[in-house]
Amino acid sequence: MAEPSGKSEYVVGVDLGGTKILAGVFKNPQECIGTSKVSTKSQRGVEAVVERIARCVQDAVDEADLSLKQVAGVGIGAPGAVDFAAGTVIFAPNLEGWKDVALKKDLEKHLGVPVFVENDCNIAALGVHVAELKGKPKSMVGIFVGTGIGGGLIINGDLYGGFNHTAGEIGHMVLDVNGPKCGCGNKGCFEALASRTAIFQQIKAGIKDGEKTILTEMLGDNLNDLRSGDLRKAIRRGDKFVDKVVEGAAEYIGIGVANLVNILGPEVVVVGGGVLEALADEMMGVIVETAQDYAMPGTMKNVEIIASKLGDNAGITGAAVLARKESK
Ligand SMILES: [Zn+2]
Repeated sequence: MAEPSGKSEYVVGVDLGGTKILAGVFKNPQECIGTSKVSTKSQRGVEAVVERIARCVQDAVDEADLSLKQVAGVGIGAPGAVDFAAGTVIFAPNLEGWKDVALKKDLEKHLGVPVFVENDCNIAALGVHVAELKGKPKSMVGIFVGTGIGGGLIINGDLYGGFNHTAGEIGHMVLDVNGPKCGCGNKGCFEALASRTAIFQQIKAGIKDGEKTILTEMLGDNLNDLRSGDLRKAIRRGDKFVDKVVEGAAEYIGIGVANLVNILGPEVVVVGGGVLEALADEMMGVIVETAQDYAMPGTMKNVEIIASKLGDNAGITGAAVLARKESK
């Protein structure tokens, strides 16, 4: 489709994470023509991180052989609570000192391009919906399993923010009132049971209790460098303990899916994030089976439960989709 004259066809999507910042220049949702990556270094303070985001955007634009003048807008997914209308990050637990940061205003000063800020999981859901599913499902739930568990809801073809624009906090759905403590202060939240952090804690606790695992052979006793990919390797080498822990997490994800399908009745549920990227083959069967077991009869009919293939790129893709939508 031709753009109106004078309007740029390029947008930039940024994924602001606790450890790294990714930026991608997009011509359309399927076509990324330049990327850049820098570490976040949030210990250097808010202003330094904003400068690093600006530099990351400039590098990606340069990588695509463009200049900022040719960019219509920049979308950013931030890891925390966001005031979309104001363009501020209200609070980001994984970024040091991030409270009421006027990210939109500050970045626009650096870049001279309109900037739009949204929660990172909402953005990832948008990316999966538009780029991976071609915008087809009318309703979709995105579940992203990484350090924590985040979600994004697409209802009637659009991102659903709810009354206070805070909807989609599915990681804090309580699945076991007597469960382990969550970072939010509650007990037994979805992410305290099935995130990468939860899986790693269960594995470390099991080893302390004398469970035998190949992981200690692979990485030593303290497992400081443990990654999701190591779990896959261990399971493929027949590690029963790791298999049991990962299966337990997959069951909780299935229960989470069942709750969401009961309440929202989505057409598609997409499960993504770093844990699923590494362990989709090991987890998806259990997730689907458990979801079907726990969902109310009839609610699961023709509902698709699939693993996202976008991986790390869901964030920049969705942020670019947001920039395109908002800068029109
Ligand atoms: Zn919680």
